[in-house]
Amino acid sequence: MLLETQTNLVTDQKIDQFFDSESKYTYEKYLQKAINYVTNFLNNENFYSGESPNNLRLKTDLLKANPNDILSIDDALEEIKALYLDHAIAFHHSNYVAHLNCPILIPAIVGDLVASSVNTAIETWDQGTSATLIEQEMIRWICTEMRLPNTSDGVFTSGGTQSNFMALLLARDDYAFKHFGLNLKEHGWSDVVSKFRFFCSEKAHFSIKKNAALMGMGYDSVIAIATDDKMKMRSDTLVQAIEKEKQLGNIPIGIIATAGTTDFGSFDPLQTIAKIAREYDIWFHVDGAYGGSYILTETHQHLLSGIEQADSITIDFHKTMFQPVCSSAFLVRDTKHFKYVSYFADYLNPLEHRDEECPNLIEKSIQTTRRFDALKLWFTLKMTGAKTIGSFLEKVHYLALDLYYSIKDDPYFEIAHKPELSTLVFRYTALGIDSDTVNLYIKNTLFKSGRASVASTKLDGKVYLKFTLLNPKSTIDDLLNIIQMIKDTGSAYNMHN
Ligand SMILES: *Cc1c(COP(=O)(O)O)cnc(C)c1O
Repeated sequence: MLLETQTNLVTDQKIDQFFDSESKYTYEKYLQKAINYVTNFLNNENFYSGESPNNLRLKTDLLKANPNDILSIDDALEEIKALYLDHAIAFHHSNYVAHLNCPILIPAIVGDLVASSVNTAIETWDQGTSATLIEQEMIRWICTEMRLPNTSDGVFTSGGTQSNFMALLLARDDYAFKHFGLNLKEHGWSDVVSKFRFFCSEKAHFSIKKNAALMGMGYDSVIAIATDDKMKMRSDTLVQAIEKEKQLGNIPIGIIATAGTTDFGSFDPLQTIAKIAREYDIWFHVDGAYGGSYILTETHQHLLSGIEQADSITIDFHKTMFQPVCSSAFLVRDTKHFKYVSYFADYLNPLEHRDEECPNLIEKSIQTTRRFDALKLWFTLKMTGAKTIGSFLEKVHYLALDLYYSIKDDPYFEIAHKPELSTLVFRYTALGIDSDTVNLYIKNTLFKSGRASVASTKLDGKVYLKFTLLNPKSTIDDLLNIIQMIKDTGSAYNMHN
């Protein structure tokens, strides 16, 4: 006897919300409505509404109060406008100069929408098919730009932090295998690993230390090398530090050079560091999360000379190729090193079914289910072009230089460096009031007013302000306008204190 099937019980009309051939109309209707709200977001006057954290919390609490309220698309969009779109930070706004968030290109958004809707997961060939090949094509393109050899390879990652993690992991496991015959992937920790040491400049990204900690090696395994007056790693100090660690009985295993430090945009001397890494026969990683994209420029190619000798490279397309978050890659000189992260699972990619024609990118990734983030870069290269991207990057560099020359003799400010990339770090020092408090006051006041977002950082223990310039449509007048706001805010502080 046939039982009545349980599936007949599903009668909810919300079944139409599944994206399939029966819901094309719903898809178009919802997206069109969403697009209208997003374009309205572009009309927000300021980079931020300035709404207080407390008020934002009250609004979200209202949402939580009625968890069973089912909203129409119009009501949901209206609610999210009040809760999010009206208060989201507009990275495209010319008064947003705080962090490494770039304005994004429309072709890249198209790529993201297509990738999200089709929802390809880049894991195995039977899930990714040609998306696998498109990702590999993007990797091959950037490896060629970096002039890496034919053995090179790469994988898209969630960001520079994850790419740097992979670099440290591959460096460590390769060293342990080559010099001690240890297979850390299979057998885990060995005491000798406690002696392993990485070297990077004191201006390197915090993810180097953080990743070393996540790998069980601790912050102490990362030796920070002093920088010179241009914020570049000092190679003489590097050699001294390597020798010192050896004398202490520790084991140098890798150097991380930064191509474009997060704060100062400075480039470590890649060629010299490459040579030192080769002499000690240790891993050479280049963190180009910020500056790596400048390989597409004429102005900065020479600063990246030496990157072609790297064992691995981090490059963040969501920092400096105008891509939506996330889009980032980890590149490796020799594809065989991916063996330190690969795993062969019976249900996904059994080793005995390995087929070069149908690659499983999961074997190169520390993620399993992974977004098709390469597609937005594909649209960008096809529709905007690498050369144009390069010229946008040159433009933001020249903006930083223009700003530097505009305020370098201004008695209101003390400048920390001449921009090598597209940041400028400086400190408000007017009227002899040279304090961390006034600089933080300026930053916080401007942010809360929604008028401008400037970052702050520390140099030699003192608070500085930072402009990160990533918008090629900004003008020097836009920037000088923010400078004027800084002066006015600083003066207002001085009057009240
Ligand atoms: C931003 C940055 C990172 C981290 O990248 P995420 O994409 O934010 O994870 C790493 N290194 C440098 C030099 C960076 O500027």
